[in-house]
Amino acid sequence: MSSKKYVYLFEEGNSDMRSLLGGKGANLAEMTRIGLPVPPGFTINTEACNEYLASGYEFPSGVLDQVFSALSQLEAHTGKGFGQKDNPLLVSVRSGAAVSMPGMMDTILNLGLNDETVQGLAQLTGDERFAYDCYRRFIQMFSNVVLEMEHNQFDEIVEKFKRKLSLIFDYEIPASELKQIISEYKLLVRQGKGSDFPQDVKEQLVLAIKAVFNSWNNQRAIVYRRLNKIDDNLGTAVNIQCMAFGNMGQDCGTGVAFTRNPSTGERELYGEFLVNAQGEDVVAGIRTPMPISRLQEELPSVYQQFLDTCQKLENHYRDLQDIEFTVEKGTLYMLQTRNGKRTARASVKAAVDMVSEGLISKNEALLRVDAEQINQLLHRQVDNSVKLDPIAVGLPASPGAACGKVIFDADMAEKLGEAGEKVVLVRSETTPDDIHGIIYAQGVLTSRGGMTSHAAVVARGMGKPCVCGCEAIKIDPPGKCFYIGELIIREGDTITIDGATGRVMLGEVPMIEPTLSDEFEALLRWADETKRLAVRANADTPQDAARAREFGAKGIGLCRTEHMFMAQERLPIVQEMILAESLEEREAALARLLEFQRDDFYGILKAMAPYPVTIRLLDPPLHEFLPDKETLLLEIADLKYQNADHLVIMGKEDLLKKIESLSEANPMLGHRGCRLGLTFPEIYRMQARAVFEAMVQLRQEKVETLAEIEIPLVMDVAEFVYLKGEILDVYEEVKTGSGVELQFVLGTMLELPRACIVADELAAEAEFFSFGTNDLTQTTLGFSRDDAEGKFIPVYLEKKIIKDNPFAVLDRKGVGSLMRIAEEKARGAKKNILMGICGEHGGDPSSVEFCHIIGLDYVSCSPYRIPVARLAAAQAKLNND
Ligand code: PEP
Ligand code: MG
Repeated sequence: MSSKKYVYLFEEGNSDMRSLLGGKGANLAEMTRIGLPVPPGFTINTEACNEYLASGYEFPSGVLDQVFSALSQLEAHTGKGFGQKDNPLLVSVRSGAAVSMPGMMDTILNLGLNDETVQGLAQLTGDERFAYDCYRRFIQMFSNVVLEMEHNQFDEIVEKFKRKLSLIFDYEIPASELKQIISEYKLLVRQGKGSDFPQDVKEQLVLAIKAVFNSWNNQRAIVYRRLNKIDDNLGTAVNIQCMAFGNMGQDCGTGVAFTRNPSTGERELYGEFLVNAQGEDVVAGIRTPMPISRLQEELPSVYQQFLDTCQKLENHYRDLQDIEFTVEKGTLYMLQTRNGKRTARASVKAAVDMVSEGLISKNEALLRVDAEQINQLLHRQVDNSVKLDPIAVGLPASPGAACGKVIFDADMAEKLGEAGEKVVLVRSETTPDDIHGIIYAQGVLTSRGGMTSHAAVVARGMGKPCVCGCEAIKIDPPGKCFYIGELIIREGDTITIDGATGRVMLGEVPMIEPTLSDEFEALLRWADETKRLAVRANADTPQDAARAREFGAKGIGLCRTEHMFMAQERLPIVQEMILAESLEEREAALARLLEFQRDDFYGILKAMAPYPVTIRLLDPPLHEFLPDKETLLLEIADLKYQNADHLVIMGKEDLLKKIESLSEANPMLGHRGCRLGLTFPEIYRMQARAVFEAMVQLRQEKVETLAEIEIPLVMDVAEFVYLKGEILDVYEEVKTGSGVELQFVLGTMLELPRACIVADELAAEAEFFSFGTNDLTQTTLGFSRDDAEGKFIPVYLEKKIIKDNPFAVLDRKGVGSLMRIAEEKARGAKKNILMGICGEHGGDPSSVEFCHIIGLDYVSCSPYRIPVARLAAAQAKLNND
């Protein structure tokens, strides 16, 4: 026998052994260790799974010996025998990875039953119906999970009997009929598989363990891991545990509960219980269960014991717990506990409340909340001040409002969602196979299942609105519609769901922006007290600047002035400027643009005063402001066809020539950024003048402003020096004209590899640097930022050539190294030079952490990401300093 240990009795493990025993195994061991009522069992570790998968589905030597030896200890412990006819030991076989992947892998219950042991179970319990019900369930589950047969075929047999007997519930089927159902099940297996349902319990166990290991690589688990960035090499453990029976009568049942409300974070026991039911019935959402509070009336002593256990678990783990339990003849058994998945709102509330309750520290609270997840708090809600006309109400399973076209299948939801359509996935209940559709849907509506059903759990995790258990809707999948009474809603019709209240409305309803809770404000205040990085906003309008301030921005790190050129009334003037034949003509157009730009800068500097505003001079290639060439060609052809005025046609043809002369093979590497400023200095001069004149005006109004004028796409200090000269020249003119001295600095973006490498030379001339990591990623990786994400990055991710999209998560190794070089060189030349980042990465938690590590001064991101960046900056400090 191999000396390597693969199998651990629950008594041998603890919660720190999560990577080896999986989350479920480690916590079952921990609960056993602290004396909670856990049915005895053992765990086959994740190493066994990984070795099994790596060897091409062969068990590592020693694993099965250890399994059967642990099983004999369970036999000794319980006094039952595995496969023993008169006193059979039955077990559950469950997956459990180190990272929770709810419902993604397989589970088998009641294993150990066969034609003989079922009789023993019947005699032992004096309950024949119960025994045959277990056997029926076992055959169905085993056939589905291990033998890979469709479970519908089995459901149809049960339904047929229920119809025949005019019964509503499964548990009403008498033993005699269950026996017939079992015969039909066995026949189905023989016909489907060409062999009999296995009667050897050891064979059952070995096959079940293999099936659980194999389920690590089933399609839905793979998709879930990709979505949640879970390492494919973790593997799953397998937990083998004595069965506790929730289906032995009305004093039995099974439930799931959270120690706090996972939607709101309120401190209240929250969950569901299903009387006379087993294992997966609640989670699967097949029957709609009763709220956990009803347990107080039904089984008061169990309820009290359960409350005490929940409290003990929360105090022990110091976090919100998600618990599975079973009650067998009035006795409570704990089957699982784990840190509960929760909405962003609940996460923030629970963390802040736990600080007031003295359970955790402020720093722990800051680290508890997933920075990316709080993005959800900033999303839309249904406007309750408007009278709504709900067509149905279901369970409020995941907050936020979603509006979209009704779609009934996940593939279609994925297809349309990917194409940019807004869809709401409507299903009777979802299964893990629907996950790809849920990803692309705005929200999910189900007609069956509780708040802990698959749809609810998955949607909450993704921050998608979800209404479930909406039983008023009757779905007709072949008819591609659903009914609510007389009302028919067809595929493609628009509905709105309100995941906060469970309401379903026809059409689109008004929505409002969210308000931030006191707990959220408190958490972000603590984040500000902790973080070192400043957080600024990328904002181009006074409105954006104002919103950014509300979210806590302390300055603007990037104001893209080209956005101001796009406005309807300005575009013709911008076009005149571009098409000008002489300097005079261009200056005339620029003089008109100056008026607009001065107002722009006045507004934005005022909205952010007294904080700094980085104003970047014009960056994109000029042809972006001109009409599309193809459209113009068509227009000319049309005019000619209609014999239009030849002067008009000539005008259009001139425009076409200009567009052609401006067009470039690689505009992103072309005539843009400071290259525009060097070829047309009058454009940058106009912009600089607009900034200075706006500042003069604000000074007269006693508003103190700080402008940081920024030159884009610099690759050499000579470019910077030349343009600096132009800007300072304009400043001298404004100063002489107004008699006002202004506070401003000149700096540049670092968005080309060469600029990073000559950052010391640039630092000698510039007052600040901002990493433009969008362009820096493009130019470092040689990935076109306009095309790569649509064309090949998904393939690179799929093939695991890259781990993350480099335009979303900073590529620390490549782009990051250039940033480090730039930082060291710049600070070597000018110790206190201000350095920040304003590419999209400025709002991504991992990238924010990197910026903290290399010692930048600030990150700048879009207004809605500011809270994310504030929290991420605090977490970066706590995790790295
Ligand atoms: C960048 O390149 O990262 C940047 C912020 O500038 P833009 O996205 O406008 O090119
Ligand atoms: Mg750029």
